[in-house]
Amino acid sequence: MGDEAGNGKMGAQLVVGILTPAISFLFAIVFFVFWRRRPDLDYVKHFAFSYALVGVAFGQSSVMPEKFSTLSLVITCGLAMASIASTAHAFMSRLNLKTPLKTLLSIVFAGTAATAVAGFMFGNVSHMAAIGCLTASLMFVTVAVQLDKTRKSSLTNGYIPKILYVTSFSSLLQSVFIWFNQPVLNIATFQTSSIWIILNMVLTVQLCAIAVAIAMICVSDSMTIVSAQAMTDELSGLQRRERFEELAHETMDRAKRAGVPVSFVICDLDHFKNINDTYGHLAGDEVIKAFGAIMRQTARSTDILGRIGGEEFALMLWNADKTGAKLVAQQLRSTLSNLDLSEVVGDTTCTASFGIAQWDSEDEYRDLFAMADKALYLAKHSGRDCVKVAQAAVPLAA
Ligand code: GH3
Ligand code: MG
Ligand code: MG
Repeated sequence: MGDEAGNGKMGAQLVVGILTPAISFLFAIVFFVFWRRRPDLDYVKHFAFSYALVGVAFGQSSVMPEKFSTLSLVITCGLAMASIASTAHAFMSRLNLKTPLKTLLSIVFAGTAATAVAGFMFGNVSHMAAIGCLTASLMFVTVAVQLDKTRKSSLTNGYIPKILYVTSFSSLLQSVFIWFNQPVLNIATFQTSSIWIILNMVLTVQLCAIAVAIAMICVSDSMTIVSAQAMTDELSGLQRRERFEELAHETMDRAKRAGVPVSFVICDLDHFKNINDTYGHLAGDEVIKAFGAIMRQTARSTDILGRIGGEEFALMLWNADKTGAKLVAQQLRSTLSNLDLSEVVGDTTCTASFGIAQWDSEDEYRDLFAMADKALYLAKHSGRDCVKVAQAAVPLAA
C-alpha cells in the first residue's frame, strides 16, 4: 500500500513537473510562429522568448529529478524571474512605453540572491519557494501599475493590468501559504512535496491566463493593422476617400464642440495625363507616391490626409483658419515643384493646384468640399501651380 501511494505521488510529480515546461514550450512555439507570420508585431517575439525561458527554468529541474539540487532550484527561480522581466518588456514595448528595466532587474537580482541565501545558507527549501513566489508577485504588480497608468485605448488594453494584478495576488497568496504552512523540506524530497505540486499547478494556470491575454492582444492588434491597411491607399500611404470622409465628419463634430477652426484643402496634380502619356503609368504612380510622402511629412498628426481620386488629394486641417491653411498649401506646392523627380519624369516639373475653404460650423461636408473645389477650379484657370482660397459664402438674404 505504502509503495503504491509512493508510486502514485511519483507519477503525479512527474506529470506535474513536465506540465509546466511542456505548456511553456508550446506557447513559446505558438508565439514564435505568430511572430514569424506577423513580424510587424515585433513585441510578440519577446513573449515567445519569455515562455521559452520559463520552459527552460522548469524543464531543467524536472527532466532529471534525481539530479535536483539547491542550485537547480536557484536557477529555476532566476530564469523564471528573468522571464517575467521579458514579459514586462513585451507588454510595455507594445504600447511604446519605457520598460522600468532597472527596477525589474534589481528585483530579479535581489530575489535570486535571497533564494540562494535561503537555500545555501539556511537549507530552507520552502522559504526558497516562498521568496520565488513573492518576487514574481512584486514584478507582476510593478508592470500592472505601469500599464494601468496609461490611457486605455481599447477593452483589451484595460484587461491586461487586471490579469496581471490577479496573477500578482495569486503569487502573493502562494508565497504566504508556503511560508507559514509548510515545514522546511529536504531538497531531495522537494519534488515529491505538495508545495511543488501546488506551485506547478498554480503556475500552469497563470501561464495559461497570461497566454490568453497575449493571444487577445495579438488578435486585436492584427485586426487593427488589417483594417488600417484596408482603409489606407497603398500608393500614397494616405486614407482612402471613404475613410477620409468619415474622419472629416468626425473632425467637424469635434471642432464644433471645441470651437476650433478647421480648413479644407483640395489639390489636383497638374497635367497629369501628359505625365502618364509621356513617361508611362508607372512614372505617374511614382509621382503620386512622392506627393503622398510630401503630404505626410508636411501635415501635423491632428490633420486628416486623403487621396480622394486618381490624382486628387485632400487635407482636413485641425486648428487652422484659411490663412494657416494657405501656408500649408503653399508649402506643399513649393516642395512638389522643387522636388527632384528627374529620374522619373526627366526635365518635366511636376506641379499641383490647390483650393482652400475654411469651415463654418453651419457648413455640411459637401458645402465645404464644393467651396474648395470651386477655388481649385479657379486655380486651374489661373495658370495652375497656385493656391486659391474660397471666399466665405454670402447668405442669400443679405
Ligand atoms: P489638370 O491639370 O487639368 O488636372 O489636367 P490632368 O491631366 O491632370 O487631368 P485629367 O483629369 O485630364 O487627367 C488625370 C489623369 O490621372 C488621367 C488618369 O489616367 C490619371 N490617373 C488617375 N489615377 C491614376 C493612378 O493611380 N496612377 C496613374 N499613373 N495615373 C492615374
Ligand atoms: Mg483631376
Ligand atoms: Mg490633374
